[in-house]
Amino acid sequence: MSGDGDGAGARVALIDRDGTIVIDRVYLDNAAGLEFLPGAAEGLRLLHERGYRLVVISNQSGIGRGRITREQMQAMNARLKEMVEAAGARLAGIYFCPHTPEDHCSCRKPEPGLILQAAAELGFDPRDAVVIGDKDSDIEAGRRVGAATVLITAEKVLGSNDLSADAAAADLVGAACAVFTLRDPPDPQSWQLGQ
Ligand SMILES: [Mg+2]
Ligand SMILES: [Zn+2]
Repeated sequence: MSGDGDGAGARVALIDRDGTIVIDRVYLDNAAGLEFLPGAAEGLRLLHERGYRLVVISNQSGIGRGRITREQMQAMNARLKEMVEAAGARLAGIYFCPHTPEDHCSCRKPEPGLILQAAAELGFDPRDAVVIGDKDSDIEAGRRVGAATVLITAEKVLGSNDLSADAAAADLVGAACAVFTLRDPPDPQSWQLGQ
């Protein structure tokens, strides 16, 4: 622990899985079907190199619907960890909600339960974290805990007025750059000296 809220210990990226890290395959139930989206491996590595702890926060209602077994989910989590390590990064945790919307649980995004659980178990203040995801429910979950938010979107975002997130990016490389701008602005003094 750095023991200092502004230190590297405070850097946490809470990242959605499907449509953000890997190709969104509805109710994917097997590890072989996990495939990085363009820019994902590089974006994760950039965040890792800047000292961000990377935590996956994922809705997996296929479990509650009986489409994905717990064993299949565990196999996918193990494979995802391997893929991220092969990309030169590391996952500090994978948190998933197994419930369906009808369960009205407190962990299915946009509910913030998974983020709060990760914060308690991994020891960070959610307000220091950055949430990255491809859906409004990701952004909403982040906003509810006071985190910074970055939306992954293929659509061109014309004005920041129509954006509920703090920033938008086309992929995880762009999201990593947005995170650095939001959370690690250049030191004004060194910036001036660099002019
Ligand atoms: Mg998603
Ligand atoms: Zn849940």
